[in-house]
Amino acid sequence: MSMKTEYADYLHRQRELKEGSNARFFADQESRYVEPFQVYGNLYYVGDSWVCVHIVDTGDGLLMFDAGNCGASAVLIHSIWKMGLNPEDVRWIILSHGHMDHFGAANFFRRMFGTKIYLSEPDSRMFREHPEQSMVQISGNCMDELFTPDVEIHDGDVMEFGNTRIQFYLVPGHTEGCIACFFDVTDGKEKKRVGYYGGFGFNTLQKSFLEEIGDTSYEMRKIYLNSLRKVRDEKVELFMPNHTADVDLLNKRRQMLQHPDAPNPFLDDQAWKKYLDGKYDKMRALMEDPAQN
Ligand SMILES: [Zn+2]
Repeated sequence: MSMKTEYADYLHRQRELKEGSNARFFADQESRYVEPFQVYGNLYYVGDSWVCVHIVDTGDGLLMFDAGNCGASAVLIHSIWKMGLNPEDVRWIILSHGHMDHFGAANFFRRMFGTKIYLSEPDSRMFREHPEQSMVQISGNCMDELFTPDVEIHDGDVMEFGNTRIQFYLVPGHTEGCIACFFDVTDGKEKKRVGYYGGFGFNTLQKSFLEEIGDTSYEMRKIYLNSLRKVRDEKVELFMPNHTADVDLLNKRRQMLQHPDAPNPFLDDQAWKKYLDGKYDKMRALMEDPAQN
């Protein structure tokens, strides 16, 4: 292939990606930069305006939840430094689930710093058996790769990371291996119980998607409802989302910066239950929608 043909081929692939329906998720990611902030005590936010990345300072290394969108690694690294933390201190990454908008920088951290990657057993299996369901192919960079996690997470696991003990559950639905987990964070005086839910999106529960993956009776929607019920009554004082919209994170952040002496808007012992109940009702409505049956 001549250089000219190679270049024409490159432009063709680029045009196809730019015109695709997912292009907005991968173009100009710098415009989604959010100044990082301390959510509460040893819990920090270093994600962008769409996909969350949280860090817990465990006293013996940093524990990171999710690794950002594919293509956003440089912005993430900048955010971690800007927060006053050192990316090299990230010892562990816990992935909410196996979709490309959450594992973007995981390979980078492992290769660069030896960070250990934790992913649920079902999504690890998905990487091996149905890698296309990770949607890595839409990232726009064919050098983005899947990986084998260092540790597979199972339902009911309890693991310790420095001073932070985490209770894990599997909450299948959005993917088969979404995780939920619960742990304490502290400001040095008080402790607050965090709840994390690894995937609420209905994109993978639409009729066309389920049929494509062979779930022709839409079983996964019932599984999604059961997962919400399974963890709904956990004690949660701080609801940690994996997409900002789930807790209106950007507005809460603004409020907190404008009124630093007001009560912390992220502390709310009803938010978790309310949001999970809302998703339950919305899923029931989707299941009753004639266009989705
Ligand atoms: Zn997802």
